[in-house]
Amino acid sequence: VDRPNSPAFRDVAVNFHPYTNARKHEDKGAMVIREGKGIHVYDDTGKEYIEGLAGLWSVAVGFGEPRLVEAARAQMEKLPFYHSFAHKSHEPSIELSERLLAMAPGKMSKVFYTSSGSEANDTAIKLVWYYNNARGRPEKKKIISRIKGYHGITIASGSLTGLPYNHKDFDLPIKNILHTACPHHWRFGWEGESEEEFASRLAGELEQLILTEGPETVAAFIGEPVMGAGGVIVPPRTYWQKIQTVCRKYDVLVIADEVINGFGRTGQLWGSTTYGIEPDMVICSKQLTSSYMPLAALLFSDEIYQAIADNTAKIGTFGHGFTASGHPVATAVALENLKIIEERDLVGNAARMGEHLQAGLRRFADHPLVGEVRGVGMIGCIELVADKTSKQAFDPAGAVGTYCYERCQEHGLIIRNLGDQMAFCPPLIIDETGLNQLLERFGQALDETAQWVGSKHQAAE
Ligand code: PMP
Repeated sequence: VDRPNSPAFRDVAVNFHPYTNARKHEDKGAMVIREGKGIHVYDDTGKEYIEGLAGLWSVAVGFGEPRLVEAARAQMEKLPFYHSFAHKSHEPSIELSERLLAMAPGKMSKVFYTSSGSEANDTAIKLVWYYNNARGRPEKKKIISRIKGYHGITIASGSLTGLPYNHKDFDLPIKNILHTACPHHWRFGWEGESEEEFASRLAGELEQLILTEGPETVAAFIGEPVMGAGGVIVPPRTYWQKIQTVCRKYDVLVIADEVINGFGRTGQLWGSTTYGIEPDMVICSKQLTSSYMPLAALLFSDEIYQAIADNTAKIGTFGHGFTASGHPVATAVALENLKIIEERDLVGNAARMGEHLQAGLRRFADHPLVGEVRGVGMIGCIELVADKTSKQAFDPAGAVGTYCYERCQEHGLIIRNLGDQMAFCPPLIIDETGLNQLLERFGQALDETAQWVGSKHQAAE
């Protein structure tokens, strides 16, 4: 940060960033992204990067899509804002809901909009509570999520999140939120245990937890079909069906957090369909607008809606909502974005190109630093370990990943380091040439990381 007038320097003076070491940031400055086009973004020096994480698992249609710009402009001009409180609505939100309900996994009846995935998950918690109040079961309010699951970062959605962010020092998770095991067979499976056996064991653990707590107190189970921020964790094939069977047995709602999976990421429209989930509620965001506008949607079943609607006199109206719920510009952009995904068959592209991505990632499986290669469709992960055989992690976890991630950036590739789990999630429009470049750049970074680890090791001896 040696140019006092550069954006990077000015950023350090004024911005406080999420998930960023403040003192390191003062030393290094920000990477200032100025423009985006297709699968690429460009920093303030003009350097080009492949956005290998689609800008936080988001930008399905790529950067600089003129149709989304035009959709936003036209809606800005016509009706830049209106709210949805007290019987008010507007056309883009109605049209988008019709489209979402027509394409949803399972039978969904109604849509509730928020601006972020975190708010949508907070809303889901309240809706579950309203539902059970309406059914005269106010004590049925515990919600089970999973270790390593990510559902947001507000006090309530952050409590669902099964990663250690801020939990221990701040009395989180809040009351009535419990966590069960993470379905990562390679990391948590027992010696000699098959994926199928592992999935059965986890379903058994869930059942035991419900019985210990008392089924009359357990309201819902929430999970990402494929976990994202926890390290791209792909469950065993039959895991979700087994979990769902347990939930149905004890009248526990199933909530699919499709914030990362939704709209083609797994090579199918929904993670739920990929893994045989028939959810009672679905949360989607990110690829919904390709994150050109902040928007999330909570879809839920008719049974939940009717119970709440029928009991308004008893429980009151749904006392919840945000100024920007269903924002007209955001919903107009989402509509256009979903049209593009359909017209260009980006879900099909994710399936076809996804195979190429997965095959390319698997070629790194024999690399000395690589513990596991995993993924499905257009989302994948390479987990770096200190010892391939024992799966022992590097100490401290994350430092080697950070080095690798920085080498990737040097070579013009942005991915994500989740504690030595290197995550890939490129825009759904990526083609074979783009993927080959991505894989080549990652390969160079990985080799340089291995050299660095080797030289540190030698120095220690
Ligand atoms: N759920 C999942 C699965 C997510 O990946 C995220 C964000 N990464 C969220 C919820 C929270 O969304 P937001 O950051 O918009 O609050």
